[in-house]
Amino acid sequence: MRTLDKIPVGGGGKILTVGGDGALRQHFLDMGLIPGSWVQVTKLAPMGDPVELTVHGYELTIRVADAALIEVDEKAKREESDGGLAACPAPDAGSGILKSRSRRKKGEKTAPAAAAQQTDADSLPYHEAHPGLGEPGKYHDSKNEHPLPKDTLLTFALVGNQNSGKTTLFNQLTGANQHVGNFPGVTVDRKDGVIRGHQNTMVTDLPGIYSMSPYTSEEIVTREFILKEKPKGIINIVDATNIERNLLLTMQLIELDVPMVIALNMMDEMRENGGTILVNVLEKELGVPVVPISAAKNEGIDELVDHLLHVAYYQEKPERLDFCGEDDYGGAVHRAIHAVMHLIEDHAQASGIPRRFAASKLIEGDHLVEEALGLDDHEKHEISELVEQMEHERGLDRSAAMADMRFSFITKLCAQTVRKPVESKEHYRSRQADKILTGKYTAIPCFVGIMVLIFYLTFNLIGPFLQDALQAGIDALAGLAERGMTAFGTNPVIISLVVDAVFGGIGTVVSFTPIIVLLFLFLSLLEDSGYMARVAFVMDKLLRKIGLSGRSIVPMLLGFGCSVPAIMATRTLPSKRDRRMTILMIPFMSCSAKILAYGFFTAEFFPRHGALVMTALYFIGILLGILVALVLKNTLFKGEAVPFVMELPNYRMPSLKSVGLLVWEKTKDFLSKAFTVIFLATIVIWFFRSFDVRLNYVTDASVSMLAYISKAITPIFKPLGYGDWRIVTGLITGLLAKENVVSVLSLLIGSPDVLATIISPAVAFALLVFILLYTPCVAAVSVIKREVGWKTTIYIVVFQIVFAWCASGAVRLIEMALHLG
Ligand code: GDP
Ligand code: MG
Repeated sequence: MRTLDKIPVGGGGKILTVGGDGALRQHFLDMGLIPGSWVQVTKLAPMGDPVELTVHGYELTIRVADAALIEVDEKAKREESDGGLAACPAPDAGSGILKSRSRRKKGEKTAPAAAAQQTDADSLPYHEAHPGLGEPGKYHDSKNEHPLPKDTLLTFALVGNQNSGKTTLFNQLTGANQHVGNFPGVTVDRKDGVIRGHQNTMVTDLPGIYSMSPYTSEEIVTREFILKEKPKGIINIVDATNIERNLLLTMQLIELDVPMVIALNMMDEMRENGGTILVNVLEKELGVPVVPISAAKNEGIDELVDHLLHVAYYQEKPERLDFCGEDDYGGAVHRAIHAVMHLIEDHAQASGIPRRFAASKLIEGDHLVEEALGLDDHEKHEISELVEQMEHERGLDRSAAMADMRFSFITKLCAQTVRKPVESKEHYRSRQADKILTGKYTAIPCFVGIMVLIFYLTFNLIGPFLQDALQAGIDALAGLAERGMTAFGTNPVIISLVVDAVFGGIGTVVSFTPIIVLLFLFLSLLEDSGYMARVAFVMDKLLRKIGLSGRSIVPMLLGFGCSVPAIMATRTLPSKRDRRMTILMIPFMSCSAKILAYGFFTAEFFPRHGALVMTALYFIGILLGILVALVLKNTLFKGEAVPFVMELPNYRMPSLKSVGLLVWEKTKDFLSKAFTVIFLATIVIWFFRSFDVRLNYVTDASVSMLAYISKAITPIFKPLGYGDWRIVTGLITGLLAKENVVSVLSLLIGSPDVLATIISPAVAFALLVFILLYTPCVAAVSVIKREVGWKTTIYIVVFQIVFAWCASGAVRLIEMALHLG
């Protein structure tokens, strides 16, 4: 008996106990790591942590520290009855797959039906028409007596695992009729859309989840949505190539007793690899319509919509809620669930929570449901007695017993209905690609290479081209407007407002837009192709040292390009804590606009050590970021990064439609939010620069209100050595966009050489440190606000300014101590 972390790659055994508590343990169980299951270690991340496992025929990754909580018996013999394994190539999947692959010749098509293992499914007809495909099947005949009133809005919740194709299906169903927003109180994206051609419908894309446990904000959002907003139907999307794991969520959804249709996705992949699923048997066993589809290839969508409208209109609920086995083990769980169901019947009715769902959750020890039901002490006591009895009879604790009940059913069901290919092309290809992309020595170089390529394309090749083209267009328009108004004899103030403020503001936004579009394009390609999960897998160990998880690395690196898409990218992080911490880290990365300022000052002050100074600034940013992260980790953001129970999905060709829609959505989002902010800020700054304190229009900036304000705050910067009003004006306008620091400063001082008469090189370096660290720009602030709200944003902005001032001061002190002037 050993713990899982001690087992070498290739080894495995039968799980004896699963430790840990709360969210982590529940995640283990939900992912199928249950006492009695078979598990095999398939891969280690390049840095030795996390580790990838195979269980119930699918792969998932967990951290080594978490693996240490799982005890495994390596010597146990595998029993015949370990059902799903007959159908699903595990637990010696690794070796089995290798053997069968090497038997095949290179280039030969993967997994013809003959190569598949013998299962019960083999004795059933190979091809079987699905009743719903064209000809009305069972579900179309069983019309409920009481359909909903004709004009009821049919609302649907789209629920499924991550990477099951939810977004792809949502886009197929709704086309471009989407509305993007937030769920109340959490920054979890909410997308609503109307099904094409069916005006009276609305589909909501819920976050991807693995189970209905009440832990992550995604899981809670999904639960609350179904229980509180009561959609008329649920679309449960199931990845057919990973069916065992996906069905766990399905079983929990069925307990909600809401009309539901299963969209069995990725059927194209199944088909091409010679796998089959007996859809009709699956449908009968689960008691809900199952429609095989391929979201990516737009197959089966019409039939899915037919079924959806039907079950929702006639309010056809699932036909079966009870999945406990009748055998000696299941019996105990079965009895406990029914006893609790009777006990809480009145409470469930009163609080509007489905009875069966409530009972299951109570047995699992779900406090949210317990509170919502409003049970009295006597009832709570009775339930705990029932649970104790069940645990005793079943020999497993409450959560494990429930998970085991579900997985036992799934295993049997899959043995009966699923014939998997030995290994799909996609999986084989992914494994080959992963040898390099997550290989011990190649993973990090590949990652660096991919990021460099993205930056090169964005900032050197495509970005500047687009920016120049757009800028030329705007300049032409501005010129046209100026000439037109001058000829018309318009007031010079208005001309200045239009040309400097309006077109200037648009120009600033335009300078951001191509970069944001491009970075989002690459980001969604990384995400959709499945590479992002690998990055998280490879980088997790490193990031954990500063209290974050592997997923944060990409948003942070994007920060070197532009903080705006970087901050927007934190949306994909799984916990609020990780999101906030990452958002705080991003401004420490020198964004491309800051390079302009670095270049300007180094050219003037450090002509011979430009590269050194630039590098020093980058590293100061990164080091201070790490320092702040370490402090935060032990103070404000105490606790661990979220449990890292996830999967490495097969690499897939991203769907152009999904990527296109996402990029469009993000760009629209940026333009509508940041545009107004940048625009207003530009006009405010224009106003201060164009008028003096008596509100006379002035062309000489040195007598403007801006100069007046700058002069008033120069004393703050005196101790740092750059208390000159022109520099301060540059810094203030830099809040708009960092590029402005240079352009405004040049404007005010005339020639760069004058700068050398104002400050010394040592002071210039301290100033650069200030520029590196102070508040990034209004566009970044506006997206930060969107993610964390006003109050936190103000704290962040104040913190950044104070921190930048202190760091700049520290640089000065060090310089003075070293007699650097
Ligand atoms: P989500 O995480 O559930 O939103 O999943 P996505 O919609 O982003 O899909 C994940 C990946 O699976 C993407 O690369 C899709 O292009 C791909 N995908 C989605 N549906 C299908 C399908 O039916 N067949 C195949 N072969 N790939 C699909
Ligand atoms: Mg998605």
